[in-house]
Amino acid sequence: MRKIIPPQSGTAFYLKKGQKLKIIDPEGEQVSDMVLFNAEDKREKLSSGKTLDFEECIQITADNYLWSHRSRKLAYIELDTNGRNDFLLAPCCKQTFEIMYEHKGYHPSCKENLEMALEPFGIAPDDIPTAFNVFMNVQYDSDGNLSVLPPTSKAGDHLIIRAEMDLLVGLTACSAEDSNGGTFKPIAYEII
Ligand SMILES: [Zn+2]
Repeated sequence: MRKIIPPQSGTAFYLKKGQKLKIIDPEGEQVSDMVLFNAEDKREKLSSGKTLDFEECIQITADNYLWSHRSRKLAYIELDTNGRNDFLLAPCCKQTFEIMYEHKGYHPSCKENLEMALEPFGIAPDDIPTAFNVFMNVQYDSDGNLSVLPPTSKAGDHLIIRAEMDLLVGLTACSAEDSNGGTFKPIAYEII
């Protein structure tokens, strides 16, 4: 059954070993931050550094594994119809908007949305790792300079992961203007 994450919000749920999670960009140009934890021992979590190291690539897509900081496989990416994701940048947070956007006052963020969604599962704010940013389009030049561009995803683009162990998943519809082409759309997902 397809579920919807409303714009600028997040959710969390369990995914059993062997189950698949399909993350869909229903309208196009919308990022979804995903974090993973071992459901049996939630101290074990998704690691950008280990994933980029073992996959020998900074552009993680279909046929790559997502690894934990204990160097174990959490999930396998079966399909990625867009093919552009980011695993360099941490979830947008309150300070992202103060420091990079010079925004005053409250602004929703993936970090806050992940904190609220994961708190009932026993995850503390400091335990949230760098997210795998599905559909996020971060480009880099030969000097290593980064730029965040609008996603290349079109309506209906999707990414499917297969759980390699029982997982706790945190998932958002990202709240950062620059990451989403200036507008905020929902994210859809299905557990298969
Ligand atoms: Zn975000």
